[in-house]
Amino acid sequence: MNQTKDQLDFWQAETIKCVKCGTCRSVCPIFEQLDHETVVARGKISLINAMLEGKQDFSPRMKEVLGLCLVCKRCTANCPGGVKIDEIVTRARTAFETKTLSIGKRAAFRLVRSHSFFNTLLRTGAKFQNLFFRRDKDKQGMYPRLPVGISRRRLLAPIASHSFIGQQPRRINGKMKVAFYAGCMINHIYHDIGEAVVKVLKAGQVDVIIPKRQVCCGTPLSTSGDRSSAAELAARNIEALTAVDVDAVVVACASCGLSLKKEFVELCSEYKPELVEKAKTLSEKVYDFSEFYLKYLTDLKLETPVNKKVTYHDPCHLVRGQGVSQEPREIVKSIPGVDFVEAKDADKCCGSGGSFSLIHYDLSTAINDEKIANLDQTGAEISITSCPACKMHINDGLARNNSGQQAKHVAELLAETLLK
Ligand code: SF4
Ligand code: SF4
Repeated sequence: MNQTKDQLDFWQAETIKCVKCGTCRSVCPIFEQLDHETVVARGKISLINAMLEGKQDFSPRMKEVLGLCLVCKRCTANCPGGVKIDEIVTRARTAFETKTLSIGKRAAFRLVRSHSFFNTLLRTGAKFQNLFFRRDKDKQGMYPRLPVGISRRRLLAPIASHSFIGQQPRRINGKMKVAFYAGCMINHIYHDIGEAVVKVLKAGQVDVIIPKRQVCCGTPLSTSGDRSSAAELAARNIEALTAVDVDAVVVACASCGLSLKKEFVELCSEYKPELVEKAKTLSEKVYDFSEFYLKYLTDLKLETPVNKKVTYHDPCHLVRGQGVSQEPREIVKSIPGVDFVEAKDADKCCGSGGSFSLIHYDLSTAINDEKIANLDQTGAEISITSCPACKMHINDGLARNNSGQQAKHVAELLAETLLK
């Protein structure tokens, strides 16, 4: 094994904390489906320890086991030993990046890094997507026509014909200055979420700046093990977001928010030490949309009643990554006409896990089916979440299970209640 000393020190310090209690078995969605010790946190730790002690070389099984993690942080949040399991997994993916990262992912990450080419490719993809995907207007999405790396049963949201950031004016005037970090899913797919965020901020007399030089937050890259490329993206975002004079940076995607609040600092400590202080300054200004709304915008008049039963799904990277769970619920409950009902295991992963759902669609679907059953059991007509990726994966599950429910972002529900 040829690992850096820091890497080995981290693994040794973390894995030694495992007291083999097995609590992680009761919370891991992957273990619940596969019921195999090697895929649970304790099993992963044993495998890594065996490698540290030189008893085992990196094997195809090790690669498979490292891939079987949603990075949902549920084991870490519940571990009595305080073992940072999700970090052990992502750092192992980084350490063995040359062996764990597929050619497809490597090529995709190269595209994401060259931001302008990535944008051009998506614009071209938007033009031709009807050739490869068929629209389902009832289910408000599209299904692949051919099994080209994506299950034909999977409901996807279409790529927008232009980017959200590109079509918005750079500045929307108001009294407080805020930068909006959109992230890839809002920028290229869910414009409606971005427009809802801007509508709510504008209604609160907020001066919204949408920095044009912002790029992908890097989460898909860092969780897959390509941390050096993620650090490149972090550096570009730090420069773009600190170049504007704002009071706050608002984010409406759980994974992007986690990156801006915490990951950028860690990535810079490892790869860009000259940017650590800037990353820290930026992180102090970052708010999830729900946090910002509750802190500054509760004077807004919510005029149009929703008159529906509504439930809430916690995105992993918001509830455990950022400790934000009550804020979106408070917002939903404050909307006139909403009958809020809590879902069972609301904080359990929806099965998306970013690219996990592309690679392990059947497993991801099995996890998602349980989530959908819990959401459906509430009798709610709308499932609210705070993450575009969760919205897409839950809408896929709702369509697959013929549920009449619809998933929406909390900003969308809020925007609907404001006067037109
Ligand atoms: S919950 Fe933590 S301490 Fe217990 S077995 Fe799992 S990783 Fe080890
Ligand atoms: S992060 Fe989630 S999926 Fe990964 S081992 Fe922990 S509980 Fe399981």
